Amino acid sequence: MPTRLLDGAAVDALLPMARCIDLMEHTLTSLCRGEAVQPLRTILRVPGKGAFGVMPALVGTPATAIGVKVLTVFPGNHGTDLDSHQGVILAFEPERGSLTGIIDASRVTAIRTAAVSGLATRLLAREDAGDLCILGSGVQARSHLEAILAVRSVRRVRLWSPTPAHALACAAWAESRCPCPVEVCSEPETAVRGADIICTVTAAHEPVLREEWVDPGAHINAVGASLPDSRELSSTLVARGRLFVDRVESARQEAGDFLIPLAEGVIAEDHIVGEIGAVALGQIPGRRVAEEITIFKSLGLAVEDVAVGEYLVREAERLGLGTLVDLGGRRDGSS
Ligand code: NDP
Repeated sequence: MPTRLLDGAAVDALLPMARCIDLMEHTLTSLCRGEAVQPLRTILRVPGKGAFGVMPALVGTPATAIGVKVLTVFPGNHGTDLDSHQGVILAFEPERGSLTGIIDASRVTAIRTAAVSGLATRLLAREDAGDLCILGSGVQARSHLEAILAVRSVRRVRLWSPTPAHALACAAWAESRCPCPVEVCSEPETAVRGADIICTVTAAHEPVLREEWVDPGAHINAVGASLPDSRELSSTLVARGRLFVDRVESARQEAGDFLIPLAEGVIAEDHIVGEIGAVALGQIPGRRVAEEITIFKSLGLAVEDVAVGEYLVREAERLGLGTLVDLGGRRDGSS
């Protein structure tokens, strides 16, 4: 069976944000119902550079998608022509096990991560939430703007990032997509004060968002830190908020935003309210009152990449997009 190569442009063409948000809702509710197999991912640290990750999953019962995302995360690439997340998703069809797609992981990661935050925002933010703060100015800052625009009526955007030139470039990009002005702030506190929705999308290892800056009723998508010794939120903020995650098992192993306050004794094991998929299924309540602070801690899951991979291959086949290659896979080695 031929294998379809899908580059970043094909991914962008086939995966509009609103469609991806719905796909992520379907995928995360399936995971919650036990209709997916997803071992913890393997992360190898690359000294002085970043990390190399391998993320396999099987989606559906019986399986509808099998696949793996393989990627490097090299934060030093930010500000260069290369993405800090590079790699591929390998998509296999579950009937005969053939490799049906090799897909650019940079664009999938950009879109699916923001789509999951969009889903969390749709489920947890106040209906009237429209004052958006983004901490960070990279790939995820841009895709998160698109995701929040897809789920709430945004009336104000403030953005902060440590390198002012990067913040200005991101704001200029955002202005062309936003129905409202985009302000660049020189301090994170100025960007955060009064915001209804706060997205932390930085490569920070220490908190960039502090409890005393956050208003009652805010919703936070904490996306940047994905290792046990890194975090973006202060311990008191995590303690004050109701904490939702993409996967409890992953958060207990990988999320510094949970593990560090836990080690400090500021929160207890049961501080995680539950998974976003369970909120979507109505198994656990999301926001209960307007004043509470909700936090969605995103780590990123293999099921998200594998479900997107299957969807992209199917759509590309329908529309005749991508490049077909025959890699073999036959018993006699012929192609
Ligand atoms: P980029 O490399 O494109 O951007 C990184 C951003 O982090 C830049 O805005 C940079 O600011 C900022 N930054 C770097 N160091 C610091 C610091 N010490 N304090 C505050 N800000 C800092 O990365 P992405 O946008 O692709 O990803 C952002 C984060 O999200 C990364 O940590 C990434 O690993 C994580 N991520 C999480 C995913 C998930 O599923 N949860 C999926 C994909 C990414 P400046 O340019 O101004 O210096």
